[in-house]
Amino acid sequence: MDQVKLSGGVMPLPQETVEKLIQQSQEAKKQAYCPYSKFRVGAALLTKDDSVITGCNVENACYNLGVCAERNAIAKAVSEGHRSFKAIAIASDMTDTFISPCGGCRQFMREFGLHWDVYMSKPDGSTCFDIPTEY
Ligand SMILES: [Zn+2]
Repeated sequence: MDQVKLSGGVMPLPQETVEKLIQQSQEAKKQAYCPYSKFRVGAALLTKDDSVITGCNVENACYNLGVCAERNAIAKAVSEGHRSFKAIAIASDMTDTFISPCGGCRQFMREFGLHWDVYMSKPDGSTCFDIPTEY
């Protein structure tokens, strides 16, 4: 399993924590509701107290009402009382490139601080490390 480290986080997570988070994002991807794009995305959000909240993309016939997996996970977490996060892992079915958060999701993540990590992944479990402060 390759890990490409693009930039250093404040406190990088142990590799096994990252791998588990990636697995959980891949599992969340299976719940994706994407009849229009057929583009499944899953996210697993690690909170400050080590809870994991997952999310998937949920599309709508009115396209712009669709919700990305990352924002879905963050909204779920906030609704359950979490506002501090350590990391988010994102999974899709793309094999040629790492799934990267869209601009809207980056803004949504930024709302909850700069010091948490973003792990973009491929279906084989390889990850690419990024942090919101770089955007
Ligand atoms: Zn997004």
